[in-house]
Amino acid sequence: MCGIVGYIGPQEAAPILIQGLKRLEYRGYDSAGVAVINGAGLTVVKRPGKLRELEKALRQAEPTGHCGIAHTRWATHGAPNQVNAHPHTSAAGDIALVHNGILENAEVIRKQLIGEGYSFASETDTEVLVHLIDHLWDDGAPLEDAVVAALRLVDGAYGIAVVSTRDPDKIVVARHGSPLLIGVGRNGEMMTGSDAAAVIALTREVVYLDDGDYAVLKADGYRTFRLEGSEVDRRVHEVTWNLDAIEKGGYEHFMLKEIFEQPTSLRNVLRGRLLEEEGDARLGGIENHQFDLGRMRRMVVMACGTSWHAGLVGEYMIEELARIPVEVEYASEFRYRNPVLEEGTLALAISQSGETADTLAALREAKQRGLSTMGVVNAVGSTIARDTDFGVYLHAGPEIGVASTKAFTSQIVALALFTLYIGRRRHMSVVQGREIVRALQQLPAQVEEVLKLNDEIRALAEEYSDARNFLYLGRGYQFPVALEGALKLKEVSYIHAEGYPAAEMKHGPIALIDDDMPIVVLAPRDPVYQKVVSNIEEMKARNGRIIAVVSDDAPELQGKVDRLIRVPHTIPSLLPVLTTVPLQLLAYHMAILRGGDVDQPRNLAKSVTVE
Ligand code: GLU
Repeated sequence: MCGIVGYIGPQEAAPILIQGLKRLEYRGYDSAGVAVINGAGLTVVKRPGKLRELEKALRQAEPTGHCGIAHTRWATHGAPNQVNAHPHTSAAGDIALVHNGILENAEVIRKQLIGEGYSFASETDTEVLVHLIDHLWDDGAPLEDAVVAALRLVDGAYGIAVVSTRDPDKIVVARHGSPLLIGVGRNGEMMTGSDAAAVIALTREVVYLDDGDYAVLKADGYRTFRLEGSEVDRRVHEVTWNLDAIEKGGYEHFMLKEIFEQPTSLRNVLRGRLLEEEGDARLGGIENHQFDLGRMRRMVVMACGTSWHAGLVGEYMIEELARIPVEVEYASEFRYRNPVLEEGTLALAISQSGETADTLAALREAKQRGLSTMGVVNAVGSTIARDTDFGVYLHAGPEIGVASTKAFTSQIVALALFTLYIGRRRHMSVVQGREIVRALQQLPAQVEEVLKLNDEIRALAEEYSDARNFLYLGRGYQFPVALEGALKLKEVSYIHAEGYPAAEMKHGPIALIDDDMPIVVLAPRDPVYQKVVSNIEEMKARNGRIIAVVSDDAPELQGKVDRLIRVPHTIPSLLPVLTTVPLQLLAYHMAILRGGDVDQPRNLAKSVTVE
């Protein structure tokens, strides 16, 4: 999920690799490393923390050589320490490999390789691949043959670069699900990188690999192949973007890039975790922990901001589908109240960064009271991830935009997986489990559909950009979405917005409604749809301007509301993922139209590590 750089050519590799890694720094990472080959062998240097730590170590090691690979890691499997940092090497130290992504069947292969006598130094999924290449490498065969043989056995997502002293003077790269490209140098040198920023110091001519491609890079040229065997021709592109645009993947802001990354981040949170036939979820973090679900009577969720909203969706899901009472607490309140926490309560901390100070303090309070603890966290190895008994990682990749977008939808899906997991061990039937699994499988492609509304939502934002207030309304699963929609708008466009349960309007806030108060109503076809239609009638009768988010043709609303935004349909518990995306886009475009700094809104910090 983070960065790869490779270089082969006449120059010293290490400084070029470091320069490439620096250009990838914007992505966020937790450790970094390089491997360089020369006539004497392979030198690997890696360090946890920032690149300056790696640079310091390199000044001592001074690896020389004209071929090398490098990596910035965003941990998905195993803590961000030196051993888990890439490159990973074979036991003989003659093969080095860097990897972005997640291998789904790493555990199975690891066990097989241990049976073959291999031993593992790290906790990463990646290390499996380097030993597998070693295991499958026939004497005298070229490196790429062994790499291809290994890749045919792995499931999951990868971008990789591999070098070996057994077959020096080349870098073998491959891609499936994680980006990778070749930088074509002019003077007998080649680079590879996980995005163009990594190679731009050397060249602007790049070849993007497709999923299922691999390539062999030598100083004087490269060849691209399909994993099935045939050679392919991939076009050379001229990168015309500046560095800033490359970093943002061509999007104007990280927030927009991350909104558009959601199909990928959702695929990653689901990767390897769905059991279709059994209608069940596979959650390694819980299974390995022997958590006694039978003893669980109640859950208390502790979170802040957007994570709190995800927690609220989680409450509705877990109560409805797994029949366990759940309470969602603002972590900042929980820590100073004296909540009643009886035995059998599981405390669940939700935090993108895993470092949110209030959530951490609430977690410590819960532990102090003897509760079992669980985390739903994006950053692997973060404090909350370490301090909980077990958890579910989001694998959403680094989130740079201050306003959380992709982490929120991944949190909902992680909670859905957890609901499925506990539900199936309590009362949920296999039929219902399968229905949820199928709905989860379809979700990433459905989000792709929602993203096609971008232009429509931009036009909508233009119409409403002068508004000074906004209301967001929803019921049931859509109430937390209303809260999240309002929060996004506040965060990035600085417009005052409130999220409210739709039926509560008549108990007060309906007094606010006039034609100067746009109202976003979440009205997908779920069990409370008809009730929401009645709420819309009440507001229309008072001249409210209504934007309705629906999940079908909504004939009852045609002609009644000012705007209809239509998303695909899914089961009620997952509709929040689909109805949130247009609200993220609306907040983004409103902010742009009003000149807000969307990636770093005033007064906000990405990870709130103070009380
Ligand atoms: N899954 C690998 C790990 O945890 C790669 C992570 C990455 O993409 O940086 O080490």
